Amino acid sequence: MRILAVGAHPDDLELLCAGTMAKYADQGHKVFLAHLCSGNMGGKDIEPEKLAQIRDKEAQKSARIIGAQALGPVAGDLDLYPTKEMRIKLTDIIRDAKPDVIFTHSPNDYMPDHVITSQLVFAASFASTVPLYKTDQPAHEPIVPIFYMDTLAGLGFEPTDYVDITDFFETKKRMFLAHESQYKWIEGHHQADALEMLETAGRFRGLQCGVKYAEAFRRLSVWGRITTEKLLP
Ligand SMILES: [Zn+2]
Repeated sequence: MRILAVGAHPDDLELLCAGTMAKYADQGHKVFLAHLCSGNMGGKDIEPEKLAQIRDKEAQKSARIIGAQALGPVAGDLDLYPTKEMRIKLTDIIRDAKPDVIFTHSPNDYMPDHVITSQLVFAASFASTVPLYKTDQPAHEPIVPIFYMDTLAGLGFEPTDYVDITDFFETKKRMFLAHESQYKWIEGHHQADALEMLETAGRFRGLQCGVKYAEAFRRLSVWGRITTEKLLP
């Protein structure tokens, strides 16, 4: 299978679905990790342009750990809007990756870039199937199932599916730690130890489904997106 995960910022996918992506990659599936925003606002002592470059390298480094391909960005942080231009850019990302399944943020996550990423994925993943919706790439005609990733700290999120990531938790941590520029900044800005967050969320979702570490997802349940195939690893 071909798997496409679309997060808002570099490091979001590491927090919310990297264990699952590592498991897919281990099973021989082709994984694409896209972020729509450059991460240029994720700090305070580095100039935005320089920070965007650093974060691009960190995203590449993280993806390499599981042999995935990093894609994006298409906008700056807090500069992502549900516009026609962004829909077209994301449509091309989807048409390029030709996924069998897509992962993205839950539409009720905690900040605008995450919410808008979710909206754009819903729109662009439909647009990408329509041959007369012209972009640089030809249509990818199947309507692709979508799984929403957990929200930050699991707030307001009722999972429908779980993936046991116990054997991949260390890999998830390594991928997260590839985003070196973020570690101190998150601690200062969000008053949260990011690694502890990873640990707590993984254990909490694991507790719910009877394994040590898990990641939780909610499947988008609308017409055309339902299949009988088992899609999660
Ligand atoms: Zn984010």
